[in-house]
Amino acid sequence: MTTREKPKRSSKNVKNAHLKRAPRAWRYPKTTVDAATDRSPTGFSTLKEAFQWPDVFLKRLGKHYGSAWLCKRLRAWRWTFSTAFSGVGAPESALTSLEKAAEHYLQSVGARVPTHRRVLYGFTCEIDKCCRNILRNTYNSPCNFPDITAFDATKKTQFCSTHNGMCKVRKHRRGNRLDVNAGGVVCTPFSKMGAQEGTAAPAFATHESYYKQMGKIHDILLVENVPEYDTDIPQQHLDQLRDDGEERGMWGSVCAVVDPRIFGVPAARARLFYLAFRKDRVKLRTDVTLEEIIGILTAKTVATADMFVWMELPRTVLTPAQERNLRDYRKMKSLRYPDLSQYARNGRGRGECADKTLCTLTTSSRLFSEDAKRFLDAKELLSSQLLPVTREQSRLSRAPPLCLEGIPEGQKQKMAGNSMNAACIGVFLLAAILCFDPV
Ligand SMILES: [Zn+2]
Repeated sequence: MTTREKPKRSSKNVKNAHLKRAPRAWRYPKTTVDAATDRSPTGFSTLKEAFQWPDVFLKRLGKHYGSAWLCKRLRAWRWTFSTAFSGVGAPESALTSLEKAAEHYLQSVGARVPTHRRVLYGFTCEIDKCCRNILRNTYNSPCNFPDITAFDATKKTQFCSTHNGMCKVRKHRRGNRLDVNAGGVVCTPFSKMGAQEGTAAPAFATHESYYKQMGKIHDILLVENVPEYDTDIPQQHLDQLRDDGEERGMWGSVCAVVDPRIFGVPAARARLFYLAFRKDRVKLRTDVTLEEIIGILTAKTVATADMFVWMELPRTVLTPAQERNLRDYRKMKSLRYPDLSQYARNGRGRGECADKTLCTLTTSSRLFSEDAKRFLDAKELLSSQLLPVTREQSRLSRAPPLCLEGIPEGQKQKMAGNSMNAACIGVFLLAAILCFDPV
């Protein structure tokens, strides 16, 4: 084999045929679920409100299903939870929020609060050093097995960068807990912005390892990726895992492409969330579905990107090149948040969305506020992913504030552009809590 295969363009590569898309008029671009209608509840109008998404979501679900049913489901919830490629830890943050909000919900309706720990935290797999520091300092020093391609699920211990030695992979007795892993597998091979090399890209090796290794030791995998991601990839890799003699298609899946704006958060970020579950260990309940949950939590987006400009900061002194670019922007487009990492002159200019919500962040975004005459701060961008960066945001969301000490501004900007939105992954974590039972 000497001929190099020409990488296929992702549009041809993608076979997400089972992801039925609603007519465009009823959804946000790239998403697969309906957007809010006039009858939907109103979304978050302030950032403070947005950080209370865990309480708001539980309240809405309780209203729909009845608090007795929801309490029963929350009391039955027993997980061990690990992550891979979680960056600054949006899955950790969202799950901590939900855990605490669940306790608050049970108390608020006068239900018995079980004494068992709903979630036992396992490990992280994160190779980036800055992200590793944040994960360690924010979420109680979890073991980190940095290199997913070196991870061997048949071994009881792996090299851990947190404790600089060999650590146990399974720290807790399994009991009747479901082993859950959330992973933001690297998206560049499929992203429209990336090289679109698909399965030919070197980063693809991390996908293969993820499904092969994490699939062996977990019951549920929650994978986040770009909307263009080919969902045949996880299915094929997970199918290969089934032990000899067991029935075919041992892994089942549910998935959807959502955008934070579906849930009333004024920031664009269409992402595919794919929930895979081992059929011999996990039973999909019949009284509740992912689609229904998404429908219940759908809300009208009423706020704009202004929501995320909350810090008291001086005006930015722009470089002459940035000044020129800004003048071009003003001549060519009327944007309130031009992205100065792109040049308006070569037609690549971008800024807020047509509905005045924050545009999808990338790792290089440099959003300039025309009102505040400054760049948006990395902390503001992280807050747009509903990751708490202040004590107040932490109190409202019930998740620990990101420990960003010693992290350079550029790195923080990059992390914000790489992160998942906590409310979006929160919806899928909730779906997994409510829809799945151990067999
Ligand atoms: Zn360790």
